[in-house]
Amino acid sequence: MSDNTTIPEPSAVSDHTSSSTAIAIVLPSLFAIVLVILIAIAFLLPRINPAESAESKEERRKKRMAKLDKSVKAQNFESWARRQSDEHPDVPVVRNPLCVICLEEIEDAAQIRGLGCLHVFHQQCLDDWFSRWNEYCPLCHRPILQCPKGQSAVQRPEDSASNLPVAAMV
Ligand SMILES: [Zn+2]
Ligand SMILES: [Zn+2]
Repeated sequence: MSDNTTIPEPSAVSDHTSSSTAIAIVLPSLFAIVLVILIAIAFLLPRINPAESAESKEERRKKRMAKLDKSVKAQNFESWARRQSDEHPDVPVVRNPLCVICLEEIEDAAQIRGLGCLHVFHQQCLDDWFSRWNEYCPLCHRPILQCPKGQSAVQRPEDSASNLPVAAMV
């Protein structure tokens, strides 16, 4: 009599253990699948994004260089110096100034870019400088890109047209 009530049916025991075993297998494997999917997404996303951002960065760099070319025309030093002495007769232009980026003299025939601040650099040197996202003149830190006439993007207290230093002062 007492045996019947205390010992459970063998089949019931095996059912119970098999269902809990199934849960013990299914749940971790579900977790594993979800985890694999998450890891796959985490791996895939950065691989897609840097490619896109690198491309857009290259695009932006090209646009930037085009803007520089438009704003600060490349020319040889001799014609730049001639124009400067016409436009700013009060500011002496020294022959063959130093390009502070490569520390070499600027020859008359060298292709240069003369900034609005009257600082002069080899075209190649300034292009390298500007393409590395430098916005300002390496010498006086005024903006390299010219603002539309009558506007000034960066107002600095020392900005005064009559007090512009010349590239050649280096
Ligand atoms: Zn140079
Ligand atoms: Zn400058």
